[in-house]
Amino acid sequence: MHFRSRLNIKLALLEDNFKKLSILAPNKGVLFMVKADAYGHGVIPIVRLSFEELGVKEFGVATLAEALRLRLELPDSQFEVYVFSDLQLSINENKEIFKQNRIIPVIATLTDLDYFLNERDFNFFPLCLKFNTGMNRLGILAKDVEEVASKIKKSGRKSIHHLMSHFSCASFPITNENNQSQMDCFSKIKKVFSENSISIEKTSLANSGAIEQGFGLDESHIRPGLMLYGPSSLNREFRKLSRWTGKNLSTLETYIILTFEIKKGMPIGYGATPCPNDGIIAIIALGYGDGFSTRYQGAHLTHRGHQGLIVGRVNMDMTQVLFPIEAKKDIKIGDNLVIWGNDPKDILNFSDETKTIPYELFCQLTDRVPRIYT
Ligand SMILES: *Cc1c(COP(=O)(O)O)cnc(C)c1O
Repeated sequence: MHFRSRLNIKLALLEDNFKKLSILAPNKGVLFMVKADAYGHGVIPIVRLSFEELGVKEFGVATLAEALRLRLELPDSQFEVYVFSDLQLSINENKEIFKQNRIIPVIATLTDLDYFLNERDFNFFPLCLKFNTGMNRLGILAKDVEEVASKIKKSGRKSIHHLMSHFSCASFPITNENNQSQMDCFSKIKKVFSENSISIEKTSLANSGAIEQGFGLDESHIRPGLMLYGPSSLNREFRKLSRWTGKNLSTLETYIILTFEIKKGMPIGYGATPCPNDGIIAIIALGYGDGFSTRYQGAHLTHRGHQGLIVGRVNMDMTQVLFPIEAKKDIKIGDNLVIWGNDPKDILNFSDETKTIPYELFCQLTDRVPRIYT
């Protein structure tokens, strides 16, 4: 079938992006973040390729269900999978799923630490801890580090497998005071464990924004997400600080269902928005049912060198794009229209214009947009 609209994903570009990552952050263990269906790219093909061809051995997801899906659909693959936020270790049924499928919880609260240390079946699981060094979202508080150390010692463990924290401001420059104080706080936490003779096997701090700027790279591991799918995660005003030259894995494409001429002031679509100019309207086969949000009204799309404007309300299944009348000869029914291509500038410009972030543009694409792999 020829699909109306589709997300084409070039898997070879993932390999290129991994090569570029290894130049930017040489000799680092990579814990590849593949939550939210690999940022909308389809977690199974992404993990299969990364594990089988690219040598990635550790993957991070947000929920237990995401981790279980990896175990069920890739049963023979010996990678590690870490669950970061939605653990629910207090529920026995969930605890069993962790244990029986060797899914590793990243412990981020004292309560979950107790569940983990007091459960004999977790004795053979690596202890992974995430600390709150200033983001104030999830994570064991820095002030509780002595208590954590004593709990660990009491349990008979002598080491932490992976000690982590997460930056709140990696999309800002390294000199940002939050980044600096989070790094200091992380060092202090490490020091307390070392004073308590608890060894730490692996550490990680850096997400994409940090890696792109070369900070947080003194740790053994990095935890990239967005950059490996293509775009920089730096805020627009700081994007020039990024050293990332990766390509966007995906192109979002649709086609023109219909074109017609329109005069300034004529009503368009739901709500009868008056057309701002004379021109030619192209109706494209993407709407909020595909994850193409009503908030995109007013943003620009380019087709064959002509700049079009999203006019009127975005519909569930269609969107109106106004092109200047001079574009008439180039705007044809049935034309393929590219929303974003493999140059990450496309999706970055579109997210800047629509006041979204590329993470969100990827994640909100619905199942109606087939993911096509080449
Ligand atoms: C999502 C996530 C990452 C990756 O972040 P990016 O900005 O996509 O690189 C890293 N660490 C944790 C804990 C995360 O939740």
